[in-house]
Amino acid sequence: MARVLNWQLGREMTYPYEGAYPERQFAFVFNINRCIACQSCTMACKSTWTFSKGQEHMWWANVETKPYGGYPMFWDVKILELLERANPGGQRWSGQPSRDPKAPYGRFEGRTVFEAERMLTPDSARVLGYLPTDEEWNSPNIYEDNPVGEKGKPFSWSKTGEQLPEHKTWFFYLARICNHCTYPACLAACPRKAIYKRPEDGIVLVDQQECRGYRKCVEACPYKKVMYRGNTRIAEKCIACYPRIEGKDPEGGGKPLQTRCMTACIGQIRLQGLVKINRDGTWAEDRYHPLYYLVHVAKVALPLYPQFGTVPNGYYIPPRWVPRPYLRQMFGPGVDQAIERYENPDRELTAVLQLFNRAREIVYAYKILEGPKVYEGTLRGRRVTLYNDTVIAYGKDGEELFRTTVEEPVHVRPAVHANSI
Ligand code: SF4
Ligand code: SF4
Repeated sequence: MARVLNWQLGREMTYPYEGAYPERQFAFVFNINRCIACQSCTMACKSTWTFSKGQEHMWWANVETKPYGGYPMFWDVKILELLERANPGGQRWSGQPSRDPKAPYGRFEGRTVFEAERMLTPDSARVLGYLPTDEEWNSPNIYEDNPVGEKGKPFSWSKTGEQLPEHKTWFFYLARICNHCTYPACLAACPRKAIYKRPEDGIVLVDQQECRGYRKCVEACPYKKVMYRGNTRIAEKCIACYPRIEGKDPEGGGKPLQTRCMTACIGQIRLQGLVKINRDGTWAEDRYHPLYYLVHVAKVALPLYPQFGTVPNGYYIPPRWVPRPYLRQMFGPGVDQAIERYENPDRELTAVLQLFNRAREIVYAYKILEGPKVYEGTLRGRRVTLYNDTVIAYGKDGEELFRTTVEEPVHVRPAVHANSI
């Protein structure tokens, strides 16, 4: 076992291989506050990659309703329980979120899926995990839209149900794809070394020629984002639409495009990019890259279950209305700071949030042009001032992709078309 730096946990950890990092890493930010569970992303992926015989149960991209939903069923509850058994009471964070890029969320003291030695069996020697049953794969988004609990109280069904005007119950939508992890558990577990991480963009792929369908990857991935195809007896997973990332999709005219799930997103919750990586696996400073800004400067976007230890490259702006203990176990100790910042955005954050899914091309940098003051007043008891700034997005070669303003233009449908739906 090698020792590698896990910056999301603020410490080194064991991993079966030495760290090897791409020049740029495929990464994304999802703003949960905006997701409406329309499933356009899910279907964009399904209709592109998993529409064939043997792939019926496969949803490389899915949107589940939390806390009850899950695909496969209860995937996160199950792996969290296994980690707890491996390290009873030890899954804790120490220290405080800080500016240190090697420990921005403090230090995680518990064991990761690679370190839970006492739980590892000869059958799953490298990574703590479990193999979901067929039934668990069969119900994507079971309990969709089911609310639960009352704010500030232990989880339970609300006795009064959902009541207007105040919603006492809560749920939220969690959109998920493979996180193309920096330390992939799927790769670590594969006895045939059939899974690899591309040096140019960090995308994690299964070599279909080498795979023999042992399903060690399915068992090991804590996010359950590798799936087994029964008719070919080979594992398959999200490929990050790599032809689009490479600029080979004819739609893009040679430019790198965001994945299908990103560009299909109606809620404009998604922003995908390629971030610069240092030689130790941390993110290189790239001040005007929108993902660098959201994750490392504004710190509004947090990794999903960082305690698993894989350094997932999917980041989430947590939902404002959900009880904090639930969010802290899901996104780590940065939750309170992230929500505070998101609820009270400064000019720069307000502008950068406009970049989400305004174009298909991948954004490499942004610039803000200051605009006039358009609003001054109070929001939730605080003074707010809103400026109609313009944010300009730049592509791979520094070309301008698009520009957009904070204040969305209002289009009034001409009366002649008023009832033309
Ligand atoms: S999310 Fe799972 S399948 Fe994707 S790279 Fe990480 S461990 Fe592998
Ligand atoms: S397309 Fe966007 S808004 Fe719709 S379910 Fe997917 S992530 Fe949510």
